[in-house]
Amino acid sequence: MAGTPAFDDDRPPSAAVAGDCVHCGFCLTTCPTYALWGEEADSPRGRIYLIQAGLDGEPMSASMVRHVDRCLGCMACVTACPSGVRYDRLIEDTRAQVERRFDRTPRQRALRAAIFALFPYPRRLRLLRGPLRAYQASGLRRLAARTGLMERLGPTLATLESLAPRLRTVPRPPRLVPAVGARRAVVGVLTGCVQSAFFPEVNSATIRILAAEGCEVVVPPAQGCCGALSVHNGRRAEAQRFARRIVDTFARAGVDHVVVNAAGCGSAMKEYADLLRDDPAYAAPAAAFAARVRDLSQLLVELGPVATRYPLPVTVAYHDACHLAHAQGIRAQPRELLAGIPELTVREIADPEICCGSAGVWNVLHPEPAAELGERKARNVLATGARLLVTANPGCLMQVAAAVRRLGGEVATAHTAQVLDASLRGLDPAALGAQPPRSSR
Ligand code: SF4
Ligand code: SF4
Repeated sequence: MAGTPAFDDDRPPSAAVAGDCVHCGFCLTTCPTYALWGEEADSPRGRIYLIQAGLDGEPMSASMVRHVDRCLGCMACVTACPSGVRYDRLIEDTRAQVERRFDRTPRQRALRAAIFALFPYPRRLRLLRGPLRAYQASGLRRLAARTGLMERLGPTLATLESLAPRLRTVPRPPRLVPAVGARRAVVGVLTGCVQSAFFPEVNSATIRILAAEGCEVVVPPAQGCCGALSVHNGRRAEAQRFARRIVDTFARAGVDHVVVNAAGCGSAMKEYADLLRDDPAYAAPAAAFAARVRDLSQLLVELGPVATRYPLPVTVAYHDACHLAHAQGIRAQPRELLAGIPELTVREIADPEICCGSAGVWNVLHPEPAAELGERKARNVLATGARLLVTANPGCLMQVAAAVRRLGGEVATAHTAQVLDASLRGLDPAALGAQPPRSSR
């Protein structure tokens, strides 16, 4: 053994957690990178071996970093593991070490710098809306698709272009929305970065549902990013800065619950106690904050329905976002909400535990394998015959919609909140873009 050990003393991955792995391999079949490449080093067990080698004093090699980077952080392995190995903690701590200690290539550094100068900043993302709408309206998008121009400019740019959703204009949410009928709770809503810039209609639907179900809704302005992208990519100090601001913002709002409609954000916010555990000023407020965080579906099921559901005759395929199902254990609640809508049918998607390849910014950092995973998911979605794909994460919506387009398929996409909102407002499925089957058109 030679060279500087992989990990320093600033929160190295836990040897005890790594030691919990009994190398049984039950996690392998749920791991998307193992499914893609079939390499032990690209499986959860293989990555734990690599982390253990680092803990044993091996240096941080380029090969180790490559296999760590290739992990989507989807947490399917955490769900699958019978020994309860907290792989999520291991990979998060390992990534923070990699980001501080590994000398990436100038190209990798530049790409990461660009990503993290843009995505965690809702105002900067909103500035992109105008040019993006002009590009989409001009027909240039169709031209670029026909000529393969984007692919020639590079897979990263092609991925970003293909992911961009059709942008809708909705008014900014009001800061306070009163409950309809008797007030049952006061809730704050996280508006998010990508969600507020590219899917403002999801936030509008979320607010309407909460109010209809008896919640007074507080929407603090200028919330900033929750830090999910940063913490999931090893940028811990940046994530901690974002988290402190969110904790302060919602403490001032004086709410019973903080409602989140983006799976990745919710999973990160529920872990604030761990993220800020070494900060004497924030450890206790962060723990109190985390206990108040609820996914939208989780809170609605806890409260129970009071608003009238009108029929919404449509067949939907429900996709479990990894950071909802694996990281938060929330699978039943969204299905319960959908099942409560008259005339709506839910179909399950094959291989539900395998990630769609979005995984925060993984699809931007690894465009080719992400496209492969996206198309695998899209084929399974199309095989259900559903007219509408429903999920609870903006990244999954963009990723699967782009893959469906590439395959020439036809299925609309919507957030769970939009589906429930459509039912509460008595809208037609066409309002969600869901077309009737070709045979009945
Ligand atoms: S992480 Fe869990 S499931 Fe995977 S090999 Fe280790 S003990 Fe087995
Ligand atoms: S988090 Fe996902 S990609 Fe990473 S090792 Fe686990 S299952 Fe594989």
